[in-house]
Amino acid sequence: MQNFTYTGLPARVLFGTGTTSLLPAEVERLACRKALVLTTEAQAALGRYLCDLLGPISAGLFPGAAMHTPVEVTDAAVIQYRDSGADCVVSIGGGSTIGLGKAIALRTDAPQIVLPTSYAGSEMTPIIGQTDGGKKTTQTTLKVLPETVIYDVTHTLTLPPLMTVTSGMNALAHAVEALYAEEANPVLSLMAEDGIAKLTEALERVRDTPQDTGARSDALYGAWLCAVCLGSGGVALHHKLCHVLGGSFDLPHAETHTVMLPHALAYNAPAVPDVMEALRRATGSQTPAAAFFDISSAAGAPTALRDLGMPEDGIERAVEIALDKPYYNPRDVDAEGLRSVFRAAWQGARPD
Ligand code: NAD
Repeated sequence: MQNFTYTGLPARVLFGTGTTSLLPAEVERLACRKALVLTTEAQAALGRYLCDLLGPISAGLFPGAAMHTPVEVTDAAVIQYRDSGADCVVSIGGGSTIGLGKAIALRTDAPQIVLPTSYAGSEMTPIIGQTDGGKKTTQTTLKVLPETVIYDVTHTLTLPPLMTVTSGMNALAHAVEALYAEEANPVLSLMAEDGIAKLTEALERVRDTPQDTGARSDALYGAWLCAVCLGSGGVALHHKLCHVLGGSFDLPHAETHTVMLPHALAYNAPAVPDVMEALRRATGSQTPAAAFFDISSAAGAPTALRDLGMPEDGIERAVEIALDKPYYNPRDVDAEGLRSVFRAAWQGARPD
């Protein structure tokens, strides 16, 4: 076996169906007295339900979480956090709401309990992205890693069909890149392969029967494993390209991951034969990049950058930005290679 480094991050994870009922006990376990609940406006009703569940240890609801964690929203939430006498936060929602909880923790050291309702995976990472005046910055610090994560399958039953797939692809991308990142190691590879196997298989079942709790449970379990990969592992070309497209072309996060994953993987495939073998086992397909493409296209999810609003003449600029700073990738990256990846993704071509 090759030498490797494995960094495990502290996490307390409660997984199952109906696990939300354990929330009050988890607040007490953290020795906290009052919890401020965070949601987006769209999920405010879910937040009110948690406030009722918390009863006397609820410090109220802040239903203003927004995409990209704008600092103005965090400012308002921190004021409410302090005024309400809260000493911890409970974030229920997708990556945007979890991002707000992390931003509050960064400023106040508030312990966080997170109930994820999408598959994006922020709950398992020490990464926070914030926007100030339209400029996005990302930092990595253990201060933002949630103390407790309660996965309750029930909350994922409402995830709309398209978001189920795009958010699932976002999760799969974390595990795929963990398999060939510079930080790849055998422990994380176990989680990555199983996460990809559970999630890809479950996404197809969920597409046919969105209310199937068993399929939703497998999807959420797979997404958790993929999230661990993002938190403890590394990334490469795919995440770099998504960052360029999100940051410079304002393309939507999960949809961009959905479109790019098959193409970034097809590009790297010749350089990582062992990883491709693992992906064949995990997806049950001889052509894993095409398998990911097919999951998206069968569900009617986006498969082309042009459908996300990317201008064709933006491809050259994207190539330039992506070459600006060097980063690890298992296959050498040059302008011609990147151009071919972006062009195929822009057109929505099915990779081999
Ligand atoms: P999101 O949190 O923006 O959610 C999109 C919408 O779907 C919101 O209105 C939300 O309330 C709603 N929603 C979420 N779950 C739902 C459910 N089960 N039922 C009904 N509606 C639901 O989207 P996302 O894809 O979860 O997160 C994307 C954001 O997370 C991006 O900003 C991304 O940068 C960030 N992210 C961060 C990390 C990290 O490690 N820091 C990791 C992954 C994603």
